[in-house]
Amino acid sequence: MDQVKGRLFIGGQWTGAASGKEFTSFDPATGQPIGTFAEAGPSEVDSAVDAARKALSARSWSGITAAERARLLWRVAELVEEHADELAELETRDQGQPLGVAQGVSVATTAEHFRYYAGWCTKIEGVVTPVSFPDTLHYTRREPVGVCALITPWNFPLMIASWKIAPALACGNTVIVKPAEQTPLTTVRLVELIEEAGIPAGVVNLVTGGPGVGKALVAHSGVDKVSFTGSTAVGREIVRASAGNLKRVTLELGGKAPSIVAADADIDAAVAGNLQGALLNSGQVCAAYTRVYVDRHRIDEFTEKLATAMAGLRLGPGIDPQTQLGPLVSPEHLAGVDAHVRAAVGAGAQLVTGGSKADGELASGNFYRPTVFAGVDDDMAIVRDEVFGPVLPVLAYDDPEELADRANATDYGLAAAVWTKDLATAHRMAADIRAGAVFVNMLPIPDSAAPWGGFGASGWGREMGKYALDVFTEVKGVWMHLG
Ligand code: NAP
Repeated sequence: MDQVKGRLFIGGQWTGAASGKEFTSFDPATGQPIGTFAEAGPSEVDSAVDAARKALSARSWSGITAAERARLLWRVAELVEEHADELAELETRDQGQPLGVAQGVSVATTAEHFRYYAGWCTKIEGVVTPVSFPDTLHYTRREPVGVCALITPWNFPLMIASWKIAPALACGNTVIVKPAEQTPLTTVRLVELIEEAGIPAGVVNLVTGGPGVGKALVAHSGVDKVSFTGSTAVGREIVRASAGNLKRVTLELGGKAPSIVAADADIDAAVAGNLQGALLNSGQVCAAYTRVYVDRHRIDEFTEKLATAMAGLRLGPGIDPQTQLGPLVSPEHLAGVDAHVRAAVGAGAQLVTGGSKADGELASGNFYRPTVFAGVDDDMAIVRDEVFGPVLPVLAYDDPEELADRANATDYGLAAAVWTKDLATAHRMAADIRAGAVFVNMLPIPDSAAPWGGFGASGWGREMGKYALDVFTEVKGVWMHLG
């Protein structure tokens, strides 16, 4: 693949940074550079905010008909599909995920998101309110929040950009997108496709660079809303930094999803489900299953089958069609995952399989062997902290009555899973676990139509479905005296 040269997109123009600064993106499977990108500075952030404000004031987006907005978002979906192979390859090269995941999850979901929110453009309605004033008509309007900073992480860069851009635009906002510095490739390409679709200049702006770019956007008085997906630590910083003009803030943050395997579960299905639920994108998934509670009568069988399946997975570059598990995103992230594993071993957890960086011909990439721990206590860091890697601790339970409390003993609350054939168990756990999504006998994969977001330290607000319309609009009440 040729080296990519990425620029900023501001007010409909592709441009470098005035400082001439650039940063490099690396292929996590080889450690080789794959592209250079403009490093935006404060003046480019100002220009991008200015361009978005001008487009907002000129009503060049919110002022066109809802049907036209829908047509343009639909066109973006078509262009994503027309360029599906190219986008999938870019995502795999930049992020590391196996090509099948890039095709089947990242690219497919991106197209679907634009199509789904294209449908909403003509259905964002107000209501007539029965106020108790004589001769008075009251109705509501859902208006754009304004200029939205959309800040995304490196684990699913293309898909998560679409989770934000599509609903923000459906609601008539203008946006500035800031991808993670490790993985800008597909966001740059998506913005090119958005331009090609004919979305007016200034409506979608792109600034690439490091955390300083995100910080400048969050503190900017010209930004009305921040929609952020990333770590809980940065989410907290964003809440503090956005207080100046009381920005609207939505946060999709970390997770530590419990997965409960009941005594009656189909163990083979639970093993297969936890294998994929824990290891999709090498465990770099906010909703990944990261602590499994198994009925003590079934735990040996479960752990043995899980460890055997994990050890048999084929690690390799995502671009190789035979690969089942790709690399971690960066050497720094791999070192963090390994530190969690070392700490767990030090705390007395029993390493059943994995637990080290892959060597041999994979040594130059960021490959970590899938790891299972047994003999784990609830209070160990490996059970409490987000690892964001291919690491799964297995815990025993004796009394189903204790499960909800153990599952809820976390600051996070993004997702959870239950594996059972018993409807009563499934519904009871679904009600008792504090999480934004509970999956019964299935993988933690979102859908455009269903709400996505977390309780507690997993975030504020919900993306997807009609819920995203609430966070990308302001409600205005119009009072009209008719006397
Ligand atoms: P991160 O370090 O928090 O970074 C996320 C984005 O924020 C990046 O674009 C980053 O820029 C930017 N950023 C960093 N510091 C900032 C600041 N002070 N102000 C504004 N922006 C700032 O997260 P990550 O490591 O990329 O992603 C992994 C995390 O995302 C995990 O915790 C995972 O659980 C979470 N996640 C959650 C969801 C969900 O739906 N709940 C989905 C996916 C991922 P740089 O890249 O330049 O540092």
